[in-house]
Amino acid sequence: MRGAQASDVLGPLLDSRARALRDLRISVTDRCNFRCRYCMPREVFGRDFEFLPRSEILTFEEIARVARIFAHLGVQKLRLTGGEPTLRAGLPTLVRMLSEIPIDIALTTNGSRLTELARPLADAGLTRVTVSLDTLDDEVFRWMNDADFPVGAVLDGIDAAARAGLGPVKINAVIRRGINDHTVLDLARYFRGTGHIVRFIEYMDVGATNGWRLDDVVPGAEIIRTIDATFPLEPAPSNYPGEVVRRWRYANGGGEVGVITSVTEPFCGSCTRARLSADGSLYTCLFATNGTDLRHLLRSGASDDEIAATVGARWNARDDRYSELRAASTAELPRIEMSYIGG
Ligand code: SAM
Ligand code: SF4
Ligand code: SF4
Repeated sequence: MRGAQASDVLGPLLDSRARALRDLRISVTDRCNFRCRYCMPREVFGRDFEFLPRSEILTFEEIARVARIFAHLGVQKLRLTGGEPTLRAGLPTLVRMLSEIPIDIALTTNGSRLTELARPLADAGLTRVTVSLDTLDDEVFRWMNDADFPVGAVLDGIDAAARAGLGPVKINAVIRRGINDHTVLDLARYFRGTGHIVRFIEYMDVGATNGWRLDDVVPGAEIIRTIDATFPLEPAPSNYPGEVVRRWRYANGGGEVGVITSVTEPFCGSCTRARLSADGSLYTCLFATNGTDLRHLLRSGASDDEIAATVGARWNARDDRYSELRAASTAELPRIEMSYIGG
């Protein structure tokens, strides 16, 4: 598979609902230094929890090979995630290897290690960074991450990313009713005019350990109304077709905010994302229950074409639209944890 990209020759790889394969999220570790209660609750991910052994995690060479194959199949963006991706030793080395593809390389991180890593990652070829920060209230934040990690250190990480040329930084804030919804306006106010873009995310029923209830979800429309009451907002057009964030611009200047309304206004119809777990399984939906084992192929001598054919067949058969079907009947279905599959 050298030379022209498969997608140039054959047109984009489409699933059964005519959605192209455009994005690959790569989980580089299932471990994390936070225990966010909505993602890795300590009661489940405690001392006895068995994370993947090192031998089962894809090596950098294996990740780079898979990424190259996906790029040939039409993927235009890679996002490194986890678990907490910055815990993976030597992450800048992986970024440098991926930067040879060439492809857009983004990172989603809790920001805890960005003060040291932003510069090496940028130098290695990282193009963009998204930092998860659910509130500016230090007490609420320490409770939410359940690792007593302070807000100030994440803000320092965001500054370091901007200094390293990774700005504007996107800030992801998951909003939960009764937990941090009273701090929405503070987040908007703080980042207004900085060039960084806050995106408020509806709390999702991902995984099976967080005890999700619909009542905990704060609809994106409500979040926008809250901000608009103090800082008038006007809708802004999408940057590209299929963009999941709904953009709103401050009418009086100061940039924009966004909402990701996965629960109240699902966007499965334009979902072009595939996910690769840290142990090399391909998932075609955040809510998938089964993955396709690519590690076995990688470690048993399969050629790039054989791996591409497996991915292509899986994507062609893809029918996922969990968020559109979400209902009481889906609540009890088994699901993969987000920290494993990659958020
Ligand atoms: N550790 C990194 C981080 O927190 O940015 C990357 C992995 S984390 C699983 C990716 C994103 O998923 C984070 O922005 C996190 O807030 C979000 N997330 C986790 N559980 C969620 C849930 N139940 N609903 C909505 N977003 C969630
Ligand atoms: Fe860790 Fe990110 Fe999950 Fe929080 S959301 S527990 S930082 S993986
Ligand atoms: Fe994509 Fe699945 Fe989320 Fe729908 S539910 S947007 S198909 S990941």
